[in-house]
Amino acid sequence: MKKYQSYINGKWLDSISGKTITVDNPATEEVIGEVSCANNSDVDLAVEAAKTSFLKRTLVDMNPMDRAKLMRKIAEELRKVSKEAGKLLCYENGKLLDGAEYEFIDAANYFDYYGGLTDKLEGQSIPVSKSVVDYTILEPYGVSAHVIPWNYPISMIGRSLACAVATGNSTIIKTPELTPLAAASFFAQAIDKAGVPKGTINIICGYGDEAGAYLVSHPDVNHIAFTGSVPTGKKILHAAADKAIPAVVELGGKSAGIVYPDADLDKVVNSAKTAVFGVAGQICSAMSRLVVHKSVKDELVEKLVNLTKSLKVGPGYEEGVDCTPVISKNQLEKVEGYARSGIQAGAEAVAGGKAYDRKGYFFESTVLDKVTQDMTVAREEIFGPVLSIIEYEEHEEAIKIANDTDYGLAAGVFTNSIDQATRASNQLEAGQIYVNSWFTGSIATPFGGYKQSGYSREKGQQALKSYLQVKNVGIQL
Ligand code: NAD
Repeated sequence: MKKYQSYINGKWLDSISGKTITVDNPATEEVIGEVSCANNSDVDLAVEAAKTSFLKRTLVDMNPMDRAKLMRKIAEELRKVSKEAGKLLCYENGKLLDGAEYEFIDAANYFDYYGGLTDKLEGQSIPVSKSVVDYTILEPYGVSAHVIPWNYPISMIGRSLACAVATGNSTIIKTPELTPLAAASFFAQAIDKAGVPKGTINIICGYGDEAGAYLVSHPDVNHIAFTGSVPTGKKILHAAADKAIPAVVELGGKSAGIVYPDADLDKVVNSAKTAVFGVAGQICSAMSRLVVHKSVKDELVEKLVNLTKSLKVGPGYEEGVDCTPVISKNQLEKVEGYARSGIQAGAEAVAGGKAYDRKGYFFESTVLDKVTQDMTVAREEIFGPVLSIIEYEEHEEAIKIANDTDYGLAAGVFTNSIDQATRASNQLEAGQIYVNSWFTGSIATPFGGYKQSGYSREKGQQALKSYLQVKNVGIQL
């Protein structure tokens, strides 16, 4: 079993207490590694390193073109290790090998994208009067703490960290306790090899309610970027409010796709394959509800059932596998509990509905028909391969059902009518709307939630605004 360490001030360190967190392979339940478990003293070290690096202003004062070069170098190092690092991520997270490798490419793409914007962080000149020259400067916050979820750990680090580096902030990354290994090893090595100034990026792991909670409430942390669940997001916002500092919060979802009578049903089925059965449904913007017109519901359900029968289940590193395990025993029990509650409430499991009788945390790709909006399965984020089918008859009813949720991360529309698609897109309450597909965005498109799915935006040029503060300078002539 390999041991991984924290990366603080350019050094790999054991935790001061000597404690570690063990990590298992969700496909086999075997322990595959351990990582240093940070407590308050380790967090203090990491914050001190970030603060010192920020005060030295190495990154802030770096010529923007040089900062861009540094970011391109990070991207290059991440791409170099993507194959090998992807394997480790696949083993600790359980997802498909391709997807795990892609997370490193994705992170590299973020560094390239935001690296291209370092010299475009422009202020404004504001006409105040003939005798005053007034302008704005965009400045980093200082020490930025990034708390990361386990479902896409490397992509999520890339997403927030690239913005923080492009804008000159110093960071502490708190990796998730369930999947910290690829970040502690390959990601940290890429940062180190790229020549990032010491202390500018620090990577630690620890439990959320210990190291995570202490980090976000640390007096020397000036900014928080959090991606995770709504309950934790609310705690993060309380911690930020206590210190009156800004927090970017990207939270969970209960996203619905509306299927109109004229929809191409194969497009819906293709979307379901990746958007709710892929990564075992552990996707923040999963297509977890389908609001389907009565006239096409039976045909669609039949196609979805056939899809689930065609999917091969197994570890992410096995050839030809489509469906992989959920992350942990806890998660498996949680998903099982949700499916059971749906069935008890009157939903019909036309496919799946239970855990596989095999080693590993595998849950059947599940289609629940006859779901109604009052059922828990229609209201709460399951974070498993469970798709709820809700029938509707009138357009306004479909919109009402789709919007009847505390979440607002994504929503989808399946129709051949551009009028219908546009009308629905305008009415749906979500940060991203997908038409005739799911996940149509890219690094360049803003991503974030309405309602309790969070606020601020990651991705795109818009995200940079969350990592910069505005200083206004007025000069009396
Ligand atoms: P989580 O909220 O349990 O944990 C996320 C991170 O927060 C972990 O690193 C954890 O250790 C830490 N944490 C937990 N308690 C904390 C506390 N009190 N203070 C500080 N940190 C704490 O979420 P998870 O189970 O790791 O991830 C799944 C959730 O993340 C889902 O709800 C999913 O929808 C969401 N998610 C959202 C997005 C997005 O972009 N909107 C992306 C990925 C995942």
